[in-house]
Parts: sequence; structure tokens; C-alpha cells
Amino acid sequence: MHVLAIGECMAELAPTKQDGEFKLGFAGDTFNTAWYLARTAPDIEVSYLTAVGDDAISQKMRTFMKGSRINDAHVQVIAGESVGLYLIHLNNGERSFSYWRSNAAARRLAVDPVALERAMDEADLIYFSGITLAILDPKSRENLFNALRHARASGKTVAFDTNLRPRLWPTVKEMKATIMQAAVLSNIVLPSYDDEAAWFGDSNARATRDRYAKIGVAQIVVKDGAKPVVYQQAGKRGEVIVEPATDVVDTTAAGDSFNAGVLAGILRQNDIVAGIKQGCRLAGQVVRFTGALIPVDLDQKVARS
Ligand code: ADP
Repeated sequence: MHVLAIGECMAELAPTKQDGEFKLGFAGDTFNTAWYLARTAPDIEVSYLTAVGDDAISQKMRTFMKGSRINDAHVQVIAGESVGLYLIHLNNGERSFSYWRSNAAARRLAVDPVALERAMDEADLIYFSGITLAILDPKSRENLFNALRHARASGKTVAFDTNLRPRLWPTVKEMKATIMQAAVLSNIVLPSYDDEAAWFGDSNARATRDRYAKIGVAQIVVKDGAKPVVYQQAGKRGEVIVEPATDVVDTTAAGDSFNAGVLAGILRQNDIVAGIKQGCRLAGQVVRFTGALIPVDLDQKVARS
């Protein structure tokens, strides 16, 4: 079993206890899912497709990927460019973010259609998100859609987290249209209810599921924080209760880690409910710690806090 995740990994500067000092890390929505899959599913091979520069920080990012059991064979290197960066501010326990990503090499990850098809050829499941789409120019987006169509036609599974981020799009209209286009191409769609409510006006998580079901998506999993996860698989519909964490510290990457559990469940057993339960266990740990990448063990206990 082989998963190919596609998107942007950024350098992260997170505040330390020492005022004015920051710790360097690496994170990004689809990358986080790849990282949790690589860490918790040793039976699944994980590759990441992106573009980086040829500078020291790009090298460090690749070293981090390889050290995390993520295959970097499909990381394209663009001479003279670099990776995106974000910095976390902490103000009375509240996190806010500053981004420097508009010139990131990752924006060119889908310039080469041959590289896309070659990477997808090796995979059983291809995973991407609304953020992956938001950073691409229209031609690259078309390349990605064509490659995904081809992958679907040759029997591969395509999984998509809508991850609506209007600030990354020229207009909300374009965001919504492109998201729905991508959903049509996907076998699995993994939206988060609060974002979908804000931009598509869904009145509850079931309405979100039904909107994607209506355009023909077979498998849908709607996340809704500590509220029940709403799903559909092969015409079967239902909800899975979430055990609320009592000590939530930071929900960064809750959805990303949850997706890793769902994808592992679908790949291993074609069982969406088993996957949702696995995703809930994993995300239920992740929200108890600060940061995107929490070093959970294979039994989903946190190795260090
Ligand atoms: P996103 O990060 O995409 O907004 P959500 O906040 O909806 O995602 O959460 C994703 C998953 O993380 C939920 O389906 C649930 O399994 C888990 N989760 C989120 N918040 C909590 C919580 N307070 N207690 C336990 N699990 C949670």
C-alpha cells in the first residue's frame, strides 16, 4: 500500500519559553497527514510530492522528511528558490500566525505533468487538499486535475480534504468552484463542517455530507470538532461519536491527523468506520499538545510531552 500526498510543507518558527527565541520545525496540512500516516502506519509506504528550492532550509526539510519515513523521491528541486515560512505568535495562550509563502517553490509543484503522472503511477491512494489547489496557478491546477483523472481511470483512490482558506484564493467564488471541481474527481472527500458552513452555508454536518453525495462522491467523512463525525460509504450513512478530550490545548492539525487515521482504515480494511475511530483516537491525542506534529506512538500514545 502506497500513499502519495501532494501539497506544501513550510518551515515553521514556533516560540520557545525564551522570549524572542524560536524553534525551527516543518509542517503543512497535507504534509502533516503524510507525517502521521508514516508514523502510525508502518505497513503503508508514504511519499510526498512538492517542490522546494536548492538552499539550506530546503535541504533540511528533505532531511526531515526522510527521517520521518516519508519518501522524498517526488520532491522537485527548483534552482534559486526556497520554501515558504510561517511564524507562530503566542499572546496570552492564543496562537496567531504570520506567513511568508507567496513565493514558495511549492507553487510550482504541478508545472510538470509528466512528473505528476510518474509519481501517481506508483501510488494506490493520492491525497491532496484545497490548500494544494489554492497555491497553484490555473495551468498547474489543470495539470493536477488531468493527472488525478487519469489516476482515477486507472483504478487508484483519490482523497481530498477541502480545507477552505479564502485568504489564499483571488475570490471566494473561484475557491468554491474549484473545490467542487476537485470533489467531483475524488473518491473520498474529508471536509470540516465549520468551514463548509461558513462558505457553502450548510446548516449541519449532514447537509455538508449530502452536498458532496449529490455530486457523486462515494465516500465522505465530515469532521465537526468534538461533535459526531458524519459519514457515507457505499450508500451506508451514519455518525460516529467523538469522545471529547477534557484537556484540549491546541487543535492545530486535529483534522490532518484525523485524516491519516481515516485513510489508513480505508486502505487496510476498506472500512470507513474503523478509519474514523482510528482518526478520532489519533486526533484526540493531538489536541492535547501544542504544535502540528505530536510524536504519537504506534499505539497512539504520545511518546513525550
Ligand atoms: P479541523 O482541524 O479540520 O477543523 P476539527 O476541529 O473538526 O478539524 O477536528 C478534527 C477531528 O479532531 C474531530 O473529528 C475529532 O476526532 C478530533 N477533535 C477535535 N476537537 C476535539 C476535542 N475537543 N476532543 C476530542 N477530539 C477532538
